[in-house]
Amino acid sequence: MASILDGHPGSPAPPAAVPASHNAVLARLDHTTRERLLPHLSAVPLKFGERLAAAEQPLTYAYFPERGAVSLVANLSDGNTLEVGMIGSEGVVGANAVLGIDWMPCSVIVQVPGLALAIRIHVLQQEAARSRPLHDVLSHHVQLELASAMQTAVCNNFHPVESRCARWLLQMHDMVGSHLEVSQEFLAQMLGVRRPTVTLLLGSFERAGVVACGRRRIEILDRRHLEEIVCECYAALKQSQHRLEV
Ligand SMILES: [Zn+2]
Repeated sequence: MASILDGHPGSPAPPAAVPASHNAVLARLDHTTRERLLPHLSAVPLKFGERLAAAEQPLTYAYFPERGAVSLVANLSDGNTLEVGMIGSEGVVGANAVLGIDWMPCSVIVQVPGLALAIRIHVLQQEAARSRPLHDVLSHHVQLELASAMQTAVCNNFHPVESRCARWLLQMHDMVGSHLEVSQEFLAQMLGVRRPTVTLLLGSFERAGVVACGRRRIEILDRRHLEEIVCECYAALKQSQHRLEV
């Protein structure tokens, strides 16, 4: 089998043995499908800031995150960015392979370091054509990404940055827990606001005992407070997840 690191610049370590999967998608597959996928999966590190895919460029691999989280990011020609979705161990990057598409409409950036199981896109496409359970779960994720992007568009247009930031922190808390290895600069890029706005916002959160911030670190101390100020989008996104059982 070709190394998963072929064509994966910036990942010098050799591929590790495939560990027992913590990815919800892989865990939910039937035994036969899972056994057929396993020989094609290789463990790759997810490094902070690493670009797993560039917008509209061929995607060589799909990724099933085991730990950590990635952002789906829209880029503008003026350098501005906006997060339009996030994927953790509940999901998969490259689910649109099931549609016969081997590219993403946005960039995919690692926002929380971790580990993923990677599989060549064309292999995933072949297996999805053979396995109805795999086809269905990938289709559900395509729908979830669409729902997430729609909700994010609504959120960015109508809701204040404090509520949007609370949504982001709650989503991250659900994915990776209380300790977030992210910088304020990165958070500003994800929210589509200027860095000073995030600095002021996190400062007010810190004074209220909601978070504690360090260099490239945000610790969530009071989730309940975030739940009190978050906009309706958080519940809507969770509802979409439950409806699609992902
Ligand atoms: Zn919102």
